[in-house]
Amino acid sequence: MPTRTADEHPNPSGPRCYCGLWHSEPKVLERQGIPRGYCGLCQVCGQPGHARHFPGAVPVTGAWCEKHYLRLRRYHPLGSTGFFLWATIAVLVVAGLVLFWTVV
Ligand SMILES: [Zn+2]
Ligand SMILES: [Zn+2]
Repeated sequence: MPTRTADEHPNPSGPRCYCGLWHSEPKVLERQGIPRGYCGLCQVCGQPGHARHFPGAVPVTGAWCEKHYLRLRRYHPLGSTGFFLWATIAVLVVAGLVLFWTVV
């Protein structure tokens, strides 16, 4: 596994993204107006961010800033944490309905 240098990525322990393009194809990123240290522009707010896979069980790649990436992971129904959040809510709703039907 290649080691990342500090200037290559602001968060070396973060999720995999396309910052490696700064080494192989820097023109691709420069053409899109992406500042160094980032590899994408957030598709929600347009701020510099990182292009990476959707944080969940769907094969989608997009670009998000840290804020929107975390928000997506926490609250989107298909995100890794969001899935459990919504699954819990669904189970509670079903349990509530069952309880309601059995009582009435
Ligand atoms: Zn990146
Ligand atoms: Zn954003």
